[in-house]
Amino acid sequence: MPELPEVEVVRLGLAAHAVGTVIERVEVLHPRPVRRHPGGGAAFQADLVGRRVTDARRRGKYLWLPLDDCDALVAHLGMSGQFLVQTPDAPAERNLRLRFGLSTGTELRFVDQRMFGGVWLSAGGAELPAEIAHIGLDPMDPDFDPAAVNRRIRRSASGIKRQLLNQTLVSGIGNIYADEALWQARLHSERPGTRLTRTEVANLLDQVQAVMSAALSQGGTSFDSLYVNINGQSGYFDRSLHAYGREAQPCDRCGTPIRRIEFMNRSSYFCPACQRPPRGRR
Ligand SMILES: [Zn+2]
Repeated sequence: MPELPEVEVVRLGLAAHAVGTVIERVEVLHPRPVRRHPGGGAAFQADLVGRRVTDARRRGKYLWLPLDDCDALVAHLGMSGQFLVQTPDAPAERNLRLRFGLSTGTELRFVDQRMFGGVWLSAGGAELPAEIAHIGLDPMDPDFDPAAVNRRIRRSASGIKRQLLNQTLVSGIGNIYADEALWQARLHSERPGTRLTRTEVANLLDQVQAVMSAALSQGGTSFDSLYVNINGQSGYFDRSLHAYGREAQPCDRCGTPIRRIEFMNRSSYFCPACQRPPRGRR
């Protein structure tokens, strides 16, 4: 699943290829990706043709393209969504769902195998679409307030990893970056927020930013073609992960085998020596 750095790479791609262009043609090849648009595919097409894209913005894993009259085209990549920039005569990709003909002569394509993602027009959403106003700022946002997030984390008895994944508290952190930041900060995922010190949480939030910046800089290196991005998957394996996906491999810090435990139908990976479980847990 694309996480924040991957979505930021997509935003940069859209900023380079779509901003300043007029959407001259829209083709909806499958209704599901536009299910959140009132009126469905035909209305989506009619509402978008002729609009100029003025910017490419992001909050957490949501992207939006402000248009020339205060509305915005909002996009979420879901599990497998991709934006590609192609020439109009390039062969259709498998799972091609939407085509946007741009005034530059290129075509923006939305490809999505599993179709948990989607796009819709948000009326008046140029500044911040109402549909995503509840999403917290992400750690890479210039307005992110680590002191306020720190206080909120320490007021809640929820486990720290569950809190990191709460998109209304702080957005953009998924399973992989949560595990990596917790490993860096030497904190077990189940430590309750109320039992963490201000310094521990401050360090953890620093690590979240560091892990994401590192991932973004690596995600950015492959961004040099017309391919706006990556679905995240190929990128993950290029990265140097210390905890995530490393069950039974030695911890890069102390050599203890990394452990995997169940977490919200997924997994958490941690070093049992560096990241001591809270009392009463193993
Ligand atoms: Zn260790």
